[in-house]
Amino acid sequence: MSVQSTNDIYDWVFRNARIIDGTGAPSFVGDLAVRGDQIAAIELPGVIAAGSGRNEADLAGLALAPGFIDAHTHDDRIVLDAPDMVPKISQGVTTVVVGNCGISLAPVRFEGAPPPPMNLLGGAEAYQFSTFGDYAAAVHEARPSLNVAALVGHSALRLATMDDITAKANPAEIADMAAMLTEAMENGAVGWSTGLFYPTNAGADADEVAELGRYVARHGGIYATHMRNEFENVLDSIDESVATAKSAGTPLVISHHKCAGVENWGRTLETLPKIEAAAHEHQINFDVYPYTAGSTNLRADLITDTYPIMIAWSRPFPEMTGRYLTDIAAGWGIDLDETAARLQPAGAIYFQMDEDDVRRVLSSPLSMIGSDGLPHDDHPHPRLWGTFPRVLGHYAREVGLFDLEIAVHKMTGVTARVFGLTNRGTLAPGKFADLVAFHPDTVRDRATYERPTIQSEGIAWVMVNGVMTFAPGQSQPGRAGRLVSRAL
Ligand SMILES: [Zn+2]
Repeated sequence: MSVQSTNDIYDWVFRNARIIDGTGAPSFVGDLAVRGDQIAAIELPGVIAAGSGRNEADLAGLALAPGFIDAHTHDDRIVLDAPDMVPKISQGVTTVVVGNCGISLAPVRFEGAPPPPMNLLGGAEAYQFSTFGDYAAAVHEARPSLNVAALVGHSALRLATMDDITAKANPAEIADMAAMLTEAMENGAVGWSTGLFYPTNAGADADEVAELGRYVARHGGIYATHMRNEFENVLDSIDESVATAKSAGTPLVISHHKCAGVENWGRTLETLPKIEAAAHEHQINFDVYPYTAGSTNLRADLITDTYPIMIAWSRPFPEMTGRYLTDIAAGWGIDLDETAARLQPAGAIYFQMDEDDVRRVLSSPLSMIGSDGLPHDDHPHPRLWGTFPRVLGHYAREVGLFDLEIAVHKMTGVTARVFGLTNRGTLAPGKFADLVAFHPDTVRDRATYERPTIQSEGIAWVMVNGVMTFAPGQSQPGRAGRLVSRAL
């Protein structure tokens, strides 16, 4: 037990920091004090008495911000299996939103190999949770280094309840899914997601989605969707997404908004005004990662010679990871389609977006930052390790797309509001002490498509729930993460 002087009223006092509070407001130099797991005070320099912190640190020259919230992840399993969460905590991320794109670890189990896209989280052994409550208990037990906000995936629900996954759910199956969704919301889920682009989810029409969404709405949850189409029919998919969210009564998050495919480059000039107009009548946001390549399963319908495709993993040919499909095809002396078929099951990185579109989506006031990283891939897309420093360093500082305050806002305040994390995402007394200190002039991503697992630079330290979690010289991250929802 440590002996404290009578002046010792805070666990931590950080002084002279450039405080970026997550609201988008201009930064200011000040001091911030932490007691227990909460922010206790934020004051101009000199107001918090000298010596009042059990630990004190001078942050002159450093930015101090709310810990980043990764709005879009597939970290459902990695938070259990590798709870240090180095790829994320090293970027300043203190909360991950799991369960996106209709893919969640609960509530479904498999006898054989999980079908794509469920296999992005692993094999049958990964799926151990028949209820969301079981998953929540596992997160609690694993005590990861960062917080987890969980969505329930529609593909998981369908695979757990339906005989013919290609069909629309019948009333009995809807009732089963509704019961599972209700159980999840009662045990701390923040909403649900669909991945209507994927074969396990595409059989659901807008009515099935809206009907299930109503059970989420009753508990104040949100609806996130990897839309049915991000290519030529992207406008129709936006209409479908908005209509189903409105009908269900849930706020809408359009996942990783993009206009994919060379023939659709430039079309964010159509999609963004459409979404922004709809957002006047209904709560709508989208997440975005700061790269022009996407990544998911290797799919026959995504094979093209109009943009490069890199292999992220291949069960039968692991030696082909990190190589381009065209090079593999040339080596094998066969065409792209046959090459892709041979590599299956596999994952890929598709260089399918236009830089100007990415910048427009990042710049929209409705966007929040989400990595969409795939932590189980052998050669992952660099977004897994680089997303947040890339927005801060490349897009805010170097490109000048927006001020640092706005960049942080898109990683914190916006995201917390969208997911209902009312006590996180901004700096104020009484909020949880999820904090990141970083060097605003040098923070940058270092992960590349060629070398995707290199830690970013310029993150000084990260605190989660008042516990110093990631810091120079700390051999292993601290572990104080929780399953989080509204007030938790
Ligand atoms: Zn997705």
